[in-house]
Amino acid sequence: MNTDTTIAAISTPTGEGGIGVVRISGSNAADIADSIFTAASGKRLKGSVGYSAHFGTLHDKSGDTIDQCIALVFKAHKSYTGEDIVELSVHGGDYVVRAALRAAIDAGAVPAERGEFTRRAFLNGKLDLSEAEAVMDIISASDRQALSAGLAALGGAVSEKCGRIRDELKFAAATVAAFSDFPDEEPEFSGIDKLGELLENAACRLGTLISDYDTGRMIKNGINTVIIGPPNAGKSTLMNRLTGYDRSIVTPVAGTTRDTVEETVSFGGVTLRLCDTAGLHDTADPVEKIGVERTKERIASADLVIVLLDGSDASYDSSEIMRLVCGKPTVVVYNKSDIAAYEPEGIKDERQFTVSVSAKTGDGIERLADAIKEVTAAEHIDGSSAVYLNERQRDCAVRAERSVKEALSALESGITVDAVGVLIDEALSALYELTGERVTVEVTNEVFSKFCVGK
Ligand code: GDP
Repeated sequence: MNTDTTIAAISTPTGEGGIGVVRISGSNAADIADSIFTAASGKRLKGSVGYSAHFGTLHDKSGDTIDQCIALVFKAHKSYTGEDIVELSVHGGDYVVRAALRAAIDAGAVPAERGEFTRRAFLNGKLDLSEAEAVMDIISASDRQALSAGLAALGGAVSEKCGRIRDELKFAAATVAAFSDFPDEEPEFSGIDKLGELLENAACRLGTLISDYDTGRMIKNGINTVIIGPPNAGKSTLMNRLTGYDRSIVTPVAGTTRDTVEETVSFGGVTLRLCDTAGLHDTADPVEKIGVERTKERIASADLVIVLLDGSDASYDSSEIMRLVCGKPTVVVYNKSDIAAYEPEGIKDERQFTVSVSAKTGDGIERLADAIKEVTAAEHIDGSSAVYLNERQRDCAVRAERSVKEALSALESGITVDAVGVLIDEALSALYELTGERVTVEVTNEVFSKFCVGK
């Protein structure tokens, strides 16, 4: 990617809105903007101070007016990308915003690639890679917890956590180097006697980061939820109730698995990702209809199982379904409480709650939300204080942990200290990759390809 160019893109979503923004970034941003924008004050943007706003008219290369416009000027180093930026705000209609972009390109700007503004911010040291990734988390956040987690990561929480582990490992590496240089020193003096402790600490911190990944995934993507139960228990009715619960149905998004589309529903303060694969609505008897294996697979990949039973049908034997969900966070819902005052036996354990609802009337639906929060521990999740890795970062942390553990066993089995040093270096490299200090072009391309144009 050539960062000498000045790039431009529409930074607001398509469709009609109050304003639409075209962002221009690069050393020629002010010159390009000056050639298509005339400030009412007569001032040129080129000599304007940073963080200044200018009202005027935007026109195309033949001088025809496009729209009234506010131009915002940001100066290099104190802008999002670290370069000179001009943001042109026009009225938010697709045609007018596209015309503004066309004018900027005709004046010499190059169309920006996906995520190129954020990539430039990364290359100019304004953000590290984990912070750049957090920008996407903030944009895609669908509830408060996801937003808080994204903001924490943008504020450097991931880098800070990794930085602490890295410092420990650097100290371990220095200890190894000192010992290699002066092997006859007293162990207390070189610190080699503390090496095992240092490595154990690092492995433990990495382990916590990795084990929190699932919680972070639930926060960012929603709780992966499967609803199963016998025919006519009311699964479709419950689905409808959930999707209409607080009128905050989130648009269907492409699932993480390629062949599914999911409906993401905000329900009682948690985000549920209801898997909408064929058969979920009419899963019916899981044994007969989709087979035990497929049901098991679906349950295994879920964060939460809702077992829906017909509370008015006392003859139904649920033991087989309950065997399938054994060990998973589960809410057993006895439906149709409006016609059968079935009193479930109560809470089985902290991973399994039982509630009685009427999917038809909505009675008891709040209790279902509370039970979901309890069994998934969503109630206790605090997006702003914990550090949650994404999949790429987790992969780096797993590699770092593996190398640290290998270093530990190498140390314990008395292999040369130099070999331990090599393994510590490997762990450090994986952590540098996590935050982006040492990262291949392929990895950065992969990260920024997930961004939208204009970000
Ligand atoms: P599914 O086969 O599990 O998807 O069940 P449906 O949602 O299609 O519901 C089966 C039948 O039960 C329908 O006639 C629903 O109207 C009825 N039903 C569902 N939920 C309730 C409820 O809470 N109370 C009552 N009385 N009927 C319900």
